[in-house]
Amino acid sequence: MNTEQLREIIRSSRRIVFFGGAGVSTGSGIPDYRSGRGLYAEETDGLSPEMILSKTFFYLQPEKFFDWYRKHMLYPEAKPNAAHRYLYELEKQDKLRGIVTQNIDGLHRQAGNIRVYELHGNVHENHCMECGAAYPMDAVLHARGIPRCECGGVIKPDVVLYGEAPEKYVCIGARREITNADTLIIAGTSLAVEPAASFTEDFRGKHLVIINKEETPADARAELVIREDVSEVFRQVWEKDTESGDRP
Ligand SMILES: [Zn+2]
Repeated sequence: MNTEQLREIIRSSRRIVFFGGAGVSTGSGIPDYRSGRGLYAEETDGLSPEMILSKTFFYLQPEKFFDWYRKHMLYPEAKPNAAHRYLYELEKQDKLRGIVTQNIDGLHRQAGNIRVYELHGNVHENHCMECGAAYPMDAVLHARGIPRCECGGVIKPDVVLYGEAPEKYVCIGARREITNADTLIIAGTSLAVEPAASFTEDFRGKHLVIINKEETPADARAELVIREDVSEVFRQVWEKDTESGDRP
């Protein structure tokens, strides 16, 4: 694995932006539901995860939605892995300008990062659809059936469902960071989901790095492509930094 070239790029960069997908969190034990299609088919009458996680399904079949959501989207035990922790070090050193993520697990924030653009929302934030009261993940996790507010309203996770638009200000912020970056690291995503995928086309900086097990449409324009597990790559980078006396 060519971690040496990645370390050199990170060393010479001052405005890194990290763009991540499901592959960033698999090292924390959170499976990629998009690649686990077959796994879910039986229990959902053949409905795909995308259909269940849609706005339409949420309103028509809220009970089934929450059953599936609790089982497959919530991982209260998950902890940040080497990738999350390395990125936090880079933010502390003022090298990392922002993290743009398609993940909803909140692990970048848990690792300590502040400049995080969560394109699809976050399972830790939930609101009553009637009165707007805020609830933590536990309120959804431990509810039986449909989670309800004290007022009787349904508690809805602040997660962007299929058929819903991502928050405008999050998208604007994410695009601005990518446009101003000198280095863009795209990791753990096959860039198949829009509108996120097209964001990466705004990049005009010097170094484009892709870390993903499978091919992506951006590979051809990348300076460095590493086809490995994301957390493993950063674990090795961290180890070499420590050996050589570099921070972190
Ligand atoms: Zn309420």
